[in-house]
Amino acid sequence: MVENERLRQEMRRCEAELQELQELQAKPATPCPGCEHSQESAQLRNRLSQLQLEVAENKGMLSELNLEVQQKTDRLAEVELRLKDCLAEKAQEEERLSRRLRDSHETIASLRAQSPPVKYIIKTVEVESSKTKQALSECQARNQHLQEQVAMQRQVLKEMEQQLQSSHQLTAQLRAQIAMYESELERAHGQMLEEMQSLEEDKNRAIEEAFARAQVEMKAVHENLAGVRTNLLTLQPALRTLTNDYNGLKRQVRGFPLLLQEALRSVKAEIGQAIEEVNSSNQELLRKYRRELQLRKKCHNELVRLKGNIRVIARVRPVTKEDGEGPEATNAVTFDSDDDSIIHLLHKGKPVSFELDKVFSPQASQQDVFQEVQALITSCIDGFNVCIFAYGQTGAGKTYTMEGTPENPGINQRALQLLFSEVQEKASDWEYTITVSAAEIYNEALRDLLGKEPQEKLEIRLCPDGSGQLYVPGLTEFQVRSVDDINKVFEFGHTNRTTEFTNLNEHSSRSHALLIVTVRGVDGSTGLRTTGKLNLVDLAGSERVGKSGAEGNRLREAQHINKSLSALGDVIAALRSRQGHVPFRNSKLTYLLQDSLSGDSKTLMVVQVSPVEKNTSETLYSLKFAERVRSVELGPGSRRAELGSWSSQEHLEWEPACQTPQPTARAHSAPSSGTSSRPGSIRRKLQPSGKSRPVPV
Ligand code: ADP
Ligand code: MG
Repeated sequence: MVENERLRQEMRRCEAELQELQELQAKPATPCPGCEHSQESAQLRNRLSQLQLEVAENKGMLSELNLEVQQKTDRLAEVELRLKDCLAEKAQEEERLSRRLRDSHETIASLRAQSPPVKYIIKTVEVESSKTKQALSECQARNQHLQEQVAMQRQVLKEMEQQLQSSHQLTAQLRAQIAMYESELERAHGQMLEEMQSLEEDKNRAIEEAFARAQVEMKAVHENLAGVRTNLLTLQPALRTLTNDYNGLKRQVRGFPLLLQEALRSVKAEIGQAIEEVNSSNQELLRKYRRELQLRKKCHNELVRLKGNIRVIARVRPVTKEDGEGPEATNAVTFDSDDDSIIHLLHKGKPVSFELDKVFSPQASQQDVFQEVQALITSCIDGFNVCIFAYGQTGAGKTYTMEGTPENPGINQRALQLLFSEVQEKASDWEYTITVSAAEIYNEALRDLLGKEPQEKLEIRLCPDGSGQLYVPGLTEFQVRSVDDINKVFEFGHTNRTTEFTNLNEHSSRSHALLIVTVRGVDGSTGLRTTGKLNLVDLAGSERVGKSGAEGNRLREAQHINKSLSALGDVIAALRSRQGHVPFRNSKLTYLLQDSLSGDSKTLMVVQVSPVEKNTSETLYSLKFAERVRSVELGPGSRRAELGSWSSQEHLEWEPACQTPQPTARAHSAPSSGTSSRPGSIRRKLQPSGKSRPVPV
């Protein structure tokens, strides 16, 4: 109990300390709001309240234990009382029993003391009379009685001894019980002490922990406070400088409008001056740009003129599986390693050589071929009309060169892609629209491959505006803006052809397929308008059909093909010899391409050649045709252009070639040099009339 009292006092002291700590902790919560340690301090406060709860719990447990100790102490007192009673009772009993034992001993002693006279009497009786005998018997009876009494006393003694024994046993039992109670008491006491000890330890630990935590918190809070104080100390000079700065700025701001007005005045003046300078330099640049534009056209025309307006190249396809095997499929074409314009053919054992503008061997890629025609295609953007023909016997690679395969496209798709990228490059100055039409000429009938009714025959007519231009009423024209658009157009044209003809391969080798690309442009700064047409033609197979070998439809087809291909040759020959009359109307093909073949236009013929022995006759025929065409010179390159707001002083001029036709088929017509001194060179000016002029031939 004394220990309890001490613990209680200690607890009260701890509580008082805790109270103090709480007060201490509660204080700094208000003075520094926004302090970085406030969260930490809140956590510590929570921890403290948890600890307080734990202390309260411990207190409850302690009072329970106190109660238990109280109960046990009460029970112990009760047991002690009972023990005392028992001891007293036992002492009384012992007293009583010893008293009785004493009495019994006394009685026995007295009885023993009485027995000699009896013996004497007996002896006397024996000696004396009957009277004494009577007395003897009386004595004997009395002796009997006394003996009985002694036996009785002995019995009593025995009983008392038993009682004493039992009381000893009881005492021993009671003692054992007492010892048990005592040990229990001792154990309870020990337990209580242990519990008190552990409680004490818990309490001490909790208090120590709380104290340590409180100390740490306090330390942190103090550190915070110190930090805040130092911050405050460092901030004060900063605040002072800021206030000074602010005052300075305030003064500056007051004076700013005046300053601004002044600055604005000077800047306006500077800008005005700069604008004037830029204007004048812009004018200068525009003038230079126009001059450069003219120069570029001039150079381009000169280049084309030097190369000739009709260029002929040959492309030899590789030997394929379809050529079969054996002597017929052996290679009959060879090349000149030093000159890429020469091709040698071994025909019926005789070597024949041809010179063209360029010869592509079977190793040449689609890109190599395209590289050669690229300049022609770009000239279309400048307003020139261009024709590219693929000529040759069926199976020589015309369609491969023009259309190609999806993985390796030919000239058609590459040309459109090039046009797109070129047009995009010029987009800052020029606005271009590109449209495509696709047509087919079969048995001298013109059909629209992009139309809704591809079987309908179309006619070629003169423009009603009196310009002398031709047009095809009803020919579908699609505007294309991307490669996707082109693919869709090609796909559509192909589908139209496939649905019309069951054997497309056969049909396409007997018809001319035309892709007509029109590029229309307007120069934003000059108003100059240009229109260029690019005609990409996959011609029908040039093989000659023996009259005896063909009948009916096949014969009619062959006649039409022969007619149109020789018409093409005739037109070129007439142009070459500058005849007054050019027989454009002799075939649908030449009539349709009249604008693109005459005068200022540019033509490229790709003669496709099969390399194998069995085709040498056709190869010879094709190469002869090629060389004949190559020697023809078209008129000077001129541009189909209309001037919108072209200033009257400025004009485009160039020197066209006017070369006398070469007399022989083997002659090489590419003009070499000496342009300006050439007699008969024509100077032509584009007048600001807004109309294109007829082309001088
Ligand atoms: P054409 O249109 O003149 O009748 P094709 O273009 O259909 O001939 O060509 C006939 C075959 O030869 C086709 O299978 C084609 O793929 C192939 N071919 C033609 N030229 C080449 C070439 N340069 N490289 C590879 N294969 C070619
Ligand atoms: Mg073909």
